[in-house]
Amino acid sequence: MTVPQIPPAIRELLACPRCHGPLLDAPPGRPEESATLRCAACALRFPVRDGIPVLLLDQARTEGP
Ligand SMILES: [Zn+2]
Repeated sequence: MTVPQIPPAIRELLACPRCHGPLLDAPPGRPEESATLRCAACALRFPVRDGIPVLLLDQARTEGP
């Protein structure tokens, strides 16, 4: 099973819907969270489903507990 990668050119166009900060790949960790974008500014994490980032605040999760 492979995780679709988001092309860098596309990722550069993405921004956090809350703070408009840049989105980065989440660090490798739990396999179920490998397809995730993380806001560098506010640390919200957004799921990537079938290679498509879901940049919705009600789908976002915060880091940690
Ligand atoms: Zn943000």
